[in-house]
Amino acid sequence: MAEMGTDSAEMPLPTPAVTNNPPENTIHDEAWKHRAPYHKVSHERFGPVKWRAHCQCRKISYVIRQDRPLNAKFCHCRGCQVMHGAPFQWAAIFHKEDVSFVNGSSGLSFYSSSLNTQKYHTPTKVSCSFCHTLIMDEGRNTCLLFPQLIEFAGSPEEKKNQRNLFKPTCHIFYEQRVMDIPDGIPKWSAMNDDSDRLDDRGNKIDQ
Ligand SMILES: [Zn+2]
Ligand SMILES: [Zn+2]
Repeated sequence: MAEMGTDSAEMPLPTPAVTNNPPENTIHDEAWKHRAPYHKVSHERFGPVKWRAHCQCRKISYVIRQDRPLNAKFCHCRGCQVMHGAPFQWAAIFHKEDVSFVNGSSGLSFYSSSLNTQKYHTPTKVSCSFCHTLIMDEGRNTCLLFPQLIEFAGSPEEKKNQRNLFKPTCHIFYEQRVMDIPDGIPKWSAMNDDSDRLDDRGNKIDQ
């Protein structure tokens, strides 16, 4: 036995089955867990809650402390169509500090399409890791929430009034739409007003 021990001590170390890299996430900066909207904030610090929202299975919920978003848009880009399984995406923009996840960073999954990775890296799609409801698009400075998740309450009229606070100011990537939306709201062919202004039927408007 002693001989075997000596032999093995002289042999090179075996190559690990996987790699020497630490498991995913241990190597990465986890500072995001300690920032809005993921860190836990006391009720006193956060202030009065204006809106509550949750995913389909209710394991993920978040609160908002502003009455209305900074802006809201309908996005018709192909990425939104595919990721949301819907003709277009309805996004309401908030400062991250105005949003707080009730269970912090637990139970969330990430997908960054620019890097094609599930590691946390903004901009990223955030979803419930249990029911896979898409929760938000997190950018570097703001987050784009999906108002469908918000608990509007009361009569149909009251719900409509609440929903109106999240009314989009424009449609973007309208050139990629799967249907016309004749709502009279400004429409842009691509990301923003640097692109072509289109009418409800997608015809270019000379400006
Ligand atoms: Zn869920
Ligand atoms: Zn989009």
